[in-house]
Amino acid sequence: MFGARRRRQREMERRLRELDWLDQAYGIGAYAPSGAPPRRPSRIPGAIALLVVMGVTTSAVFTMQPQVFPDRVHDWLGTNPERLLPVRDIPIGPGDFSFIATQPDSDEPVAYNPCEVIEVEINPEGAPDDHEELVTRAMAHTSDATGLQFELVGTTDERGFDSMSMNDPVMVLWSEQDEVADLAGSIAGLGGSYRIEPIGGGKQRYVTGFVVLDREAFADLRSDEVRQGIVDHEFGHLVGLGHVDDPRQLMHEHGGINMAYGNGDLAGLAALGSVACR
Ligand SMILES: [Zn+2]
Repeated sequence: MFGARRRRQREMERRLRELDWLDQAYGIGAYAPSGAPPRRPSRIPGAIALLVVMGVTTSAVFTMQPQVFPDRVHDWLGTNPERLLPVRDIPIGPGDFSFIATQPDSDEPVAYNPCEVIEVEINPEGAPDDHEELVTRAMAHTSDATGLQFELVGTTDERGFDSMSMNDPVMVLWSEQDEVADLAGSIAGLGGSYRIEPIGGGKQRYVTGFVVLDREAFADLRSDEVRQGIVDHEFGHLVGLGHVDDPRQLMHEHGGINMAYGNGDLAGLAALGSVACR
């Protein structure tokens, strides 16, 4: 996500580490990413030029870490973990959606665990004054659509969204081209999540992620609806939605003609939130 050379370097590093893990084969989780979808950051002219947004599926790899505690409790007690919020109904009506990633052997999307809270931290450095409202509303919109539960746990001064650990909260920050090359030109934001894959097989799932928003865009844009739409779009990527060509959807590459989740977006988000707990 930082240009071709960086991608190649990271891919090489990833393969080396993966080989290393396979050699050791001692853990309960190998964090194996798969390929990124094609990205077409494009330029569009005129007043909506800043609406270009992009999805990122990460190709970074986490270091080996113990499984999180609540899963172990369930393992020991022989109980099934329970959803935090109900499954959402898939809306009736036309509209396309796509997933950033699906399980290797099925069409089931890679998604967050609906039995765990998705914690979110904001880095307020250079963020607009209303950053907390923007993020809180995006969390609410995305939670309403998915049945996933988010919690804003505080602020952070961390900015290394490309080198996160699996227990880190989701990181939301505002940045600029000098720091994040992908924010060059008319790109208003990017979002994505890191996934893990159990070493013996089993479902991949997202464990944390990031939303990076363009300071200049948020300083220039006057429409609250558009500003919120950009943050919501990136939260759509965060939980696993990819782009669609359907302009009625917020997950259109350029944000579409509506600044809120459309029927297709809502159907995809409901599916992402309805996966089994683990
Ligand atoms: Zn996008």
